[in-house]
Parts: sequence; structure tokens; C-alpha cells
Amino acid sequence: MIEEDIVGRLFNAFGKRTSEGQGRIYMEWVTKAGRYAEDIIEASIQNDTTFPPLARLNSALINKKSSERVSYDPNIERCYYCLDTGFVPYLYDPAGVSAERYYIKMFACKCSQAIVGIPKYFDEWNEVQFEQGDYEKHFLYPHIVDAIMMDRNNRLNNGV
Ligand SMILES: [Zn+2]
Repeated sequence: MIEEDIVGRLFNAFGKRTSEGQGRIYMEWVTKAGRYAEDIIEASIQNDTTFPPLARLNSALINKKSSERVSYDPNIERCYYCLDTGFVPYLYDPAGVSAERYYIKMFACKCSQAIVGIPKYFDEWNEVQFEQGDYEKHFLYPHIVDAIMMDRNNRLNNGV
């Protein structure tokens, strides 16, 4: 399926009208997501009750890519900050609409995978939010942020 069809299908499925800029950004996402794009969009159409923001599609992309991590060719260098997705996650404390949960927003990476039109991570902050710390070497930055978010949300749930 070609990119326009995938994006068109998504917007149609949620009865959403495409603005030119938004359509372009989703199109770029589909290009970056490559062979994963169709599956992720299809899953979103089947399961989501609301039109998926890019951050949600991108979390799905990161999950898919990291679950395939074991089969990664270790000789392929991936961007540490974005796993070659072009997006770097920033973790926010529970606030506003997401009062119950820590949540992630995506910013554009500084590498060549980054999508234009999205605020750049390293323009907003001089350095990454979290250190490698005790995380193993195969944890790249998005894995660390995911792990920390999960950990903090679990603690919230358990009232620790
Ligand atoms: Zn990157």
C-alpha cells in the first residue's frame, strides 16, 4: 500500500478532514515507519476510539522496533536518542488531562531521521532528561524513558 493510501485510510476511518500540513506530517511518519506503518495504522483503526496523535503511533512504533530488538543485527548502528524513529521521548509528570499518569511527548531528534515541523528535543533541552544509569548497554534512550515511565506509573498505581 502506498503512503497516501495508508494516511487517507486513517483519516477516513476517524472521519477526520486532512489539513495539508497535518497530512504531510502523517505522510512523513508513514515513510519513516516503513514496513511497520501499515500494521500500526491498521491496529489503531481497529482499536483506538479517538484519532491517534503522532505520539501514540510513535509509541507503537518504538514498541514494535524494541520487541524485535533481539533479532537486530548488532552491526547496524541505530541512533541512540531515537532508535532511528526520528522522535525523542520526554517524560512529563502527571498533570492536567493525564492527571493519573506520567506521560510522554515526542520531540524531533537531531539526527537525519527527524521530521520537520515538530519542536526539536535539543532546542528545548541541552541534554537528555535521564542518564544511562544502571540500564544495560542495549537499552537505548527511548527504552530508558519507557522503562522509567512504566516504573513511575506502577508506583503511582500501587500508591508507593
Ligand atoms: Zn535520532
